[in-house]
Amino acid sequence: MFTHHYVEGLVVSETAKGESDKIFNIYTREFGKISLLGKSIRKEKSKLKMNLQLFSHVKVGFIEGRVYNTITDVSSVSVFKNAKNHLGKLSLFYRISELMLSFMKGEEKDEKVFTFLLNAFQKINETELSVKELELFYCFFSFQILRLLGYEPRIQSCILCRKGIKKECYFDSKRGGVVCNKCFKKGRIGVYLEDVRVLSFFLNLNIKDFPQSAKAPVHVVDEFLSFVSESAYLKK
Ligand SMILES: [Zn+2]
Repeated sequence: MFTHHYVEGLVVSETAKGESDKIFNIYTREFGKISLLGKSIRKEKSKLKMNLQLFSHVKVGFIEGRVYNTITDVSSVSVFKNAKNHLGKLSLFYRISELMLSFMKGEEKDEKVFTFLLNAFQKINETELSVKELELFYCFFSFQILRLLGYEPRIQSCILCRKGIKKECYFDSKRGGVVCNKCFKKGRIGVYLEDVRVLSFFLNLNIKDFPQSAKAPVHVVDEFLSFVSESAYLKK
């Protein structure tokens, strides 16, 4: 007997396989990230094709297999049409999905992550976003998703001397938090941060309140991401 599953998910990547198949990575409410085989989906007559698009919200049925789990049927909830017709938004979908895939190796159910990702897709689809706001959204998404995955940086006090930090500081990606001016002078590791409140702003912001005007701390996000990939690597 084959086990049949029905899941709700967001299609975060697709790769061509063989002559007419595709492998889809789908972030699901029920199992977290899963890979599914779309058999013959690149064929003209494929019934799955229409409903299973990259970066869409879907309901999928699949059966467990020895090598691959194979999709049996799909219905589309939303294709986020508005965002697909906007180059900047589409590229944001790519960046966000890449980020999700790089930090999620195996199956791990996390309903909060699913809901956040779904809200993010909807928000990008519905909201007018300027080039600057798209960049802000990427920073916001990165901070929030990593926080949800348990990689929240320590920003209340200096990670070395524990002294509270009010404004100026340095973000030390290796230690996963901020260091004060004094400690920075001893070790000189970290990127300068004019105001630590920029980080708390991004960590505490609710997706409903986005967009908001703020300076996008892109350099800190980059540092932060490198910190997490290092720690994720160390955990393995
Ligand atoms: Zn210190």
